[in-house]
Amino acid sequence: MSKRYRGKRCVYCGRPGVSDTGDHVVARGFFLPSERADLPQVPACARCNNEKSRLEHHLLTVLPFGARHAAAAHTLDEMVPGRLQKNARLHRDLLAGWDTRWLGAYGQPWVEQRILPLDSRLVTHLCEFMMIGLAWYHWQADLAPPSQVRAEFFSPGGAATFETLFANQRWGARLDESLGGGTFAYRAAQDPNAPSRTIWRFAIYGGLVMSGAAGQPTIQADAVFALSNPSPRGLNPVQGA
Ligand SMILES: [Zn+2]
Repeated sequence: MSKRYRGKRCVYCGRPGVSDTGDHVVARGFFLPSERADLPQVPACARCNNEKSRLEHHLLTVLPFGARHAAAAHTLDEMVPGRLQKNARLHRDLLAGWDTRWLGAYGQPWVEQRILPLDSRLVTHLCEFMMIGLAWYHWQADLAPPSQVRAEFFSPGGAATFETLFANQRWGARLDESLGGGTFAYRAAQDPNAPSRTIWRFAIYGGLVMSGAAGQPTIQADAVFALSNPSPRGLNPVQGA
C-alpha cells in the first residue's frame, strides 16, 4: 500500500492520523476488470473501510439483478455467478425473494422488471460514504462528522426538485462524472460560501428497482439524491442574536 494513504486523516470519520488504506470510493467491483484504472481513492481507516466494504459486498452481489443499464447486464453475466457461488445463503435469499412484476405507465409500452429483496437503506448508506469520499477527492471538502450527510431514493417528484435546485446559479463548483461507460454516474454541486454544503445525484447501473425491508413499498428509482450540510452548531454561531 502506498505511503500516500497511511497515517492521514480518515476522510470518512474525520479522525486524524488513523488512515491505513487507500479506499476506492466507488468500489472496483462495480466495474469490469478493463474499466478499473484510475478510479478515485482516498485515505481511510480500517474501521470505515471495513464498514463500507460490508455494504459494497452485499450490494455488488445483488444490485446488477435490478439494473437496467447495458453495462449492468454484462456485469451480471461476467461477474455475479462467481460471487453468488461464494455466498450460498444470499443466493438462497435471492431466489426466495425473487419476484417479477409488470410495471408500466399509461400510454407507454409495459416493461418487465425484476424486483429485488434488498434493503434500500444499504444503498443510501453506501451513497453517504461515497459522497464524503468524492467530495474530498474532487474538492478537498470535508464532509466527515460533525457535518451532516443524508442520501435518499428519488421519488418521481424528487427528481424534478433536484433539477431545479441544481440549476440554481449560486452553486459554485460542479461535477458531472461517468465511470465505467455509464455503469456509475454522479453529479454534484458545492456551495462556494460553505465547502461542506453539497448536493449529489448518483445513478448506479442506470437505475434500480427493489423492494424494501418487510412492509416497505417497492421502490423504483433512477437515482439516489444526497445532500450535506455543515454541522448545525457551525450554522448558528449567534443563535438568538
Ligand atoms: Zn474512519
